[in-house]
Amino acid sequence: MIRTRFAPSPTGFLHVGGLRTALYAYLVAKQNNGKFILRVEDTDQKRSVEGAIPAILESLNWADIAPDEGVVEFENNDVIEKGEYGPYLQSKRLKIYEQHANILLEKGFAYYCFCTAERLEECRAKQSAANRPMGYDGHCREMDVAEIKKNLTAGAPYTVRLKMPKTGMTEFNDLIKGKVSFKNELVDDQVLLKTDGFPTYHLAVVVDDHLMAITHVIRGDEWLPSTPKHIYLYECFGWEKPMFAHLPLLLNANKSKLSKRQGDVAVGDYVKKGYLPEALINFVAFLGWNPGDDREIFSLAELAKEFSLEKVNKSGAVFNLEKLDWYNKYYLRQLSNEQVAELALPFFGNKIKDLRLKIEDFANVIGLEKERVTTLAELPGAVNFIFELPDYPAEMLVFKKSTTEEAKKVLGELLVWLEKIDLKDKNDLEKQVIQWIKDNGYTNGAVLWPLRVALSGQDKSPGPFEIAVVLDKDEVLRRIQVALAKV
Ligand code: GLU
Repeated sequence: MIRTRFAPSPTGFLHVGGLRTALYAYLVAKQNNGKFILRVEDTDQKRSVEGAIPAILESLNWADIAPDEGVVEFENNDVIEKGEYGPYLQSKRLKIYEQHANILLEKGFAYYCFCTAERLEECRAKQSAANRPMGYDGHCREMDVAEIKKNLTAGAPYTVRLKMPKTGMTEFNDLIKGKVSFKNELVDDQVLLKTDGFPTYHLAVVVDDHLMAITHVIRGDEWLPSTPKHIYLYECFGWEKPMFAHLPLLLNANKSKLSKRQGDVAVGDYVKKGYLPEALINFVAFLGWNPGDDREIFSLAELAKEFSLEKVNKSGAVFNLEKLDWYNKYYLRQLSNEQVAELALPFFGNKIKDLRLKIEDFANVIGLEKERVTTLAELPGAVNFIFELPDYPAEMLVFKKSTTEEAKKVLGELLVWLEKIDLKDKNDLEKQVIQWIKDNGYTNGAVLWPLRVALSGQDKSPGPFEIAVVLDKDEVLRRIQVALAKV
């Protein structure tokens, strides 16, 4: 069975890059009837941020890629886990890591290091001054047993370090990058267990991926240099290695690494801005992947069918917000007015409730602008003219090929005539008004322009018939009166 995992450290909110990693892992699991696991890598307690786990889960749920197993819920400050391979919070697994560090020590694949923070700092300073590669200098690597015992008995603080071979190469086949090799002499003797007994990421990730039966390790490029250490650990334990896939970096338009300074990077920011999950998922899927032809619209289910790690690009993927906007507009158009109205409600605060607007009527209002806006968050501003007629200058009422006098005459006559007309059906209203224009010898522009401005109070807006059927008849007549008072 294929088992993939997303393994965030709870140091903040879910980054769009993290969403992509989670999505690809989710897709690989789903396309193989496998399981997608959420494991929380919280062994660096200093960097853990309160509220990060629920926020990450909320973003995954919003995107509809909830984990099948692992940390699946968060309720009343409690993390709820599901599955037989837990616990899935690394901070609850400290004993397991300690046991595994001991196995490595016993087998001679790891060693005690008693170097103090000051000594390590001095070492780094010397390496940096001499322009030499940074890394542990191996001071405790060959310490004799008697000295180790003496230090341990004296209670000297220690770390456990990996005894990385100093000759040869570590090679592996990355599902995206192909064959990757590292010279072992350049790989550091990584700390596996810290002085406080907590494991480092490197020990915990290998132990957990093995014990949780992970088949595919899918993660960001930044972990590629750590992979030789992990591969060696699998060998030391005599475990079968999972497949590895390292995803290309996300880049800004200027090809620098995507960062907060250039705009929003948290999934939650996009939720707040009114992007739809379908749009963000489709967009994120295409950051580094495409189906190899010109199709661009993919639902989650379609992605699960077509996605493959082998088709992920090796080089960085440019994060282009215009494309996200394009997707969002597309997905907004696919939804009914009612569906968009439901999704848009939170963006209106209490307004719709306070106005006692029925959801059907609200849906009609939304229908006016649904196809013009880019995000849900733009809707309150875009449809506000329905709730409050904006103040506008008299000149706006005058069609460019007409005059103030004609606008005044037309609006006056319309006011009288519309009183007798039913304003419920857009097509019917349109037919009648067009006939009225003909019968009275006006041009369409000379009538429809001032009527539209009178009803919307805006230079640009949906057409007059769409607006008229959404407003109450009394309000239509009142707005024409307001216009008449201006000219
Ligand atoms: N905890 C690591 C992170 O937050 C996970 C890396 C991995 O997937 O192995 O990036």
